[in-house]
Amino acid sequence: MDMQTASSTQTSPQAQSPDPGAWTLEKAQALYHAPFNNLLFLAQTVHRQNFDPNKVQLSRLLSIKTGGCPEDCGYCSQSARHETGLKASKLMEVRRVIAEATKARDAGATRYCMGAAWRNPKARDMDAVVAMVEGVKALGMETCMTLGMLDLEQAARLKQAGLDYYNHNIDTSERYYSEIISTRGYAERLDTLEQVRRSGIKVCCGGIVGMGEDPVDRIDMLVTLANLPEPPESVPINMLIPIAGTPLAEAKPIEPIEFVRVIALARIMMPKSHVRLSAGRTAMTDEMQALSFFAGANSIFVGDTLLTADNPGEDKDSLLFRRLGIEPMELEAQ
Ligand code: SF4
Repeated sequence: MDMQTASSTQTSPQAQSPDPGAWTLEKAQALYHAPFNNLLFLAQTVHRQNFDPNKVQLSRLLSIKTGGCPEDCGYCSQSARHETGLKASKLMEVRRVIAEATKARDAGATRYCMGAAWRNPKARDMDAVVAMVEGVKALGMETCMTLGMLDLEQAARLKQAGLDYYNHNIDTSERYYSEIISTRGYAERLDTLEQVRRSGIKVCCGGIVGMGEDPVDRIDMLVTLANLPEPPESVPINMLIPIAGTPLAEAKPIEPIEFVRVIALARIMMPKSHVRLSAGRTAMTDEMQALSFFAGANSIFVGDTLLTADNPGEDKDSLLFRRLGIEPMELEAQ
């Protein structure tokens, strides 16, 4: 990537074929801090080279096991260590999960994501989660799970059941990670990502911004992702929803323009990935979402709730899509 190009006023699309796997922090920083219009023009150019710019993929997320998690992630309402008033539940029954997935498919979602608040799945849980993957897959949807840390054997079992994606976020930079979570380390995150890759499951991995981190942490997180042996196929970028009772309840919100810069940088650094505008959309204006789509975001979660947090209703999303001329991406097109 030619930084001169990114910061010049005459940005030429031809000069900008990205350079996967070779990102340095300096290179990424220069882009992130480039004049906003140049950054957005470059991101949109890269986006158009790889995707239909007016199609956005719709995913639906279901909490299959809520709360009571032994981990201490500072942003999370589901940690048993934070007083958030959330009631913990048991693992949902398989048939209920399939019924919910059927409704989501009929409403247009093409990917079904199932999340459990665990440090890692126990051996006794594996039969049920495998049955969920098989059942959702049989509906003709893509399947995704987030269950915490996995070993290679568990990952291989999920792959065999038909799991398409595994979500495991690195959340922030390696430097800032210990400020947010103390019950596990960055290396453990990367290890699970490696087991997922080795088993042949596609990777969904991103992070959260607005946790009091510096811009360099956001940039470094994207450098880590872009430099993985294979960048994640899905990159969720979450904007923190501060939750009362968590250590990050009073975190200073990220400024919208900064947020859009993160999306644009993710698009440029991981040109072929789906960049997902994930949690935090209820706190975004329509204009901020529109700018994020322009910057290269091309996936969202639909549905009224995201695990335990609010999400814009489907009516609001369809209206925004209509106003922007955006259409849902079909499964074949992904
Ligand atoms: S983010 Fe996941 S691992 Fe961390 S406390 Fe919440 S449910 Fe547990």
